[in-house]
Amino acid sequence: MDILKPCPFCGAAPVRLILKKRLFAHNNAGVPLYRIAWSARCNACHARGPTASDIRLPVCDDSDLKEKAAQAWNRRRIIW
Ligand SMILES: [Zn+2]
Repeated sequence: MDILKPCPFCGAAPVRLILKKRLFAHNNAGVPLYRIAWSARCNACHARGPTASDIRLPVCDDSDLKEKAAQAWNRRRIIW
């Protein structure tokens, strides 16, 4: 996985990847579907990166979303 760059707002590191997972709906078979949302977050100023999210079964692999969130964070421009 990509190493997260320092925060573009305050320059702090490390930045963490946060997972938010909540029940979205049940499908016709009664199987729960979850909204999986990964985003990077600065521990110092609480800036958040773009969210990578999808609706999935709880057993599905979500490492692609985690990777997307990391890449989206790293593409942010340094503005300080
Ligand atoms: Zn910050």
